[in-house]
Amino acid sequence: MPTGTCFCGDVKYEFSQDQMQKAICHCLSCRKITGSTYTTNFIIPESNFTLTSGSLRDCTRPHECGMDLSVFFCGGCGSTIYKKATGDMFKGVIVLLVGTVDNAEGVEKAVPDREFYVKHRGDWLQPVQGAVQDAASKPTSKREQPRNPNQHDDNNGRGPTGDPPEPPPLLNKPVLIPKKELKKLLDSKGREMYERLKNGLTSNRQRTVWSGGNHRIDPAHSIQGNSNLKPWNLHVQREAASTTSRDLKDKFGTHAKLIWDVFNIANPPSFQEWCSRLLSLYNSF
Ligand SMILES: [Zn+2]
Ligand SMILES: [Zn+2]
Repeated sequence: MPTGTCFCGDVKYEFSQDQMQKAICHCLSCRKITGSTYTTNFIIPESNFTLTSGSLRDCTRPHECGMDLSVFFCGGCGSTIYKKATGDMFKGVIVLLVGTVDNAEGVEKAVPDREFYVKHRGDWLQPVQGAVQDAASKPTSKREQPRNPNQHDDNNGRGPTGDPPEPPPLLNKPVLIPKKELKKLLDSKGREMYERLKNGLTSNRQRTVWSGGNHRIDPAHSIQGNSNLKPWNLHVQREAASTTSRDLKDKFGTHAKLIWDVFNIANPPSFQEWCSRLLSLYNSF
């Protein structure tokens, strides 16, 4: 099991990498927490973390996005070990600071899946290849309610202010299509859907990239800062015939995002990786 230590060595911990997500964060709070320009983080379920020596002090302040942010640090030397936040996407998880992980290999494996608050990223830094770029990065909190994911987008998926749509949250993506139904769809039409995403998202035309019987895939606007990351949405078709699809249509309408994700056209996943990723979106902490 990987281990970690603070600067003075009083605090020691171990953690498991089950269900781990990797993200770097350029927010203003992360600067103050580290005294540096951004944080490199492992996001893990809280139960994955065990403190094996020493004790942690903590400090809670409002984050600039409205949620409360807590930092847990060594009282002796001040090294921040992890953060917790009250935003919906941080429920049940801790955000471990990768710099406190013991072996250098841990850092090599920390290539982020996602970058938060890229609007604050220093101009001298490049986006990480293949990492989802969260331009807005507004984790939801009790003070900031999420946009209704089922709401019909009258302006091509842009928010009310014309901002780019928020990329899917890192955790707990709202998936409306039952897992069994998605599995069935991937078994019968998955290849075709995958190929169309791989080849059909390259143009910037906002038109359906794939349709088949009960479902269709529509593109959304590219994520700001990286035109290779193409968000897409699965919808139910007006002419849906299967019972489950008709139920979904009656319940949510034909514009609801049954499932949505981002496809990297510059560095596409394999078909198998793509399928497992979609099915993993059902795992919630
Ligand atoms: Zn210490
Ligand atoms: Zn941050």
